[in-house]
Amino acid sequence: MTTRCVILKMVILMKNICDSHVHSNNSFDGESTVREICEAAIQKGISCVTITDHMEAPEIGLGDKSIFGNAMKQVTQSVTDVEELAQEYKGRLKLLKGMELGEPMHKPKYTKMALAITDFDFILASVHNLLGEEDFYYMEYEEAGIKPLLTRYFDEILDTAANAEYDSLAHLNYPFRYIVEKTGIRPNMEDYAEVIDEILLTVIKRHKAIEINTSGLFKPIGETLPSLDIVRRFRELGGDFVTVGSDAHNCEKLGNGLEKGIDLARICGFKSYTVYEKHSPKQIAIWY
Ligand SMILES: [Zn+2]
Ligand SMILES: [Zn+2]
Repeated sequence: MTTRCVILKMVILMKNICDSHVHSNNSFDGESTVREICEAAIQKGISCVTITDHMEAPEIGLGDKSIFGNAMKQVTQSVTDVEELAQEYKGRLKLLKGMELGEPMHKPKYTKMALAITDFDFILASVHNLLGEEDFYYMEYEEAGIKPLLTRYFDEILDTAANAEYDSLAHLNYPFRYIVEKTGIRPNMEDYAEVIDEILLTVIKRHKAIEINTSGLFKPIGETLPSLDIVRRFRELGGDFVTVGSDAHNCEKLGNGLEKGIDLARICGFKSYTVYEKHSPKQIAIWY
């Protein structure tokens, strides 16, 4: 290896880029195999990937009839793939077992079943839909209905933050991604400042993390989910742990925006970001 190659490799290793939110084709909307993701990660200089395939827990009872497919089978397959390839890629890439656990508070019996699939490294909790409603992705929005909807959403996030089993709270303002995209209306976060403080304080009290989800950087909203002001507030209130994830659904998008997300953490006062192994937070120093 030439000196230039050695230096280049050292720089990549020093950067220590980890993607903690990635979907494989074991998610109903994922496109790439875990192997394709591993290859892409190595090519992109990413040192660690946590596969977090979808588990919409309330759907478990529907089995094969769920519109998202059979999540128990999908996540079980995801875990098998990750365990196999983690061995094969050892020394080149750290591959961790995660799950994006949707709506963990809706049907506790099913949430328990999902959590019992394996000894996960990382649980990312999400709320993609309110009880009795469809995913925010599919909803149509009227201006007058946005505020009551978001009030219900943040109340459910607070319940999730306080009572669910998780390591990190995913895309804290998830509905904003679609409200901005579909209506052009940018809801004012100030209207929810009180409940957001309560959510952040709850996460801090439980020694959990929030996620900086970089997918929004490439959507009309044009910012991370949540945005800089919320991440800064989390730090001000005493937050120690932030995970960073691209929410990629194919290997082309793997790692997209991660450096920006990590830099945002630094701007907000974090000296490190977090990767979970066996639910234990490992702090990765932010070097730049
Ligand atoms: Zn999600
Ligand atoms: Zn996701």
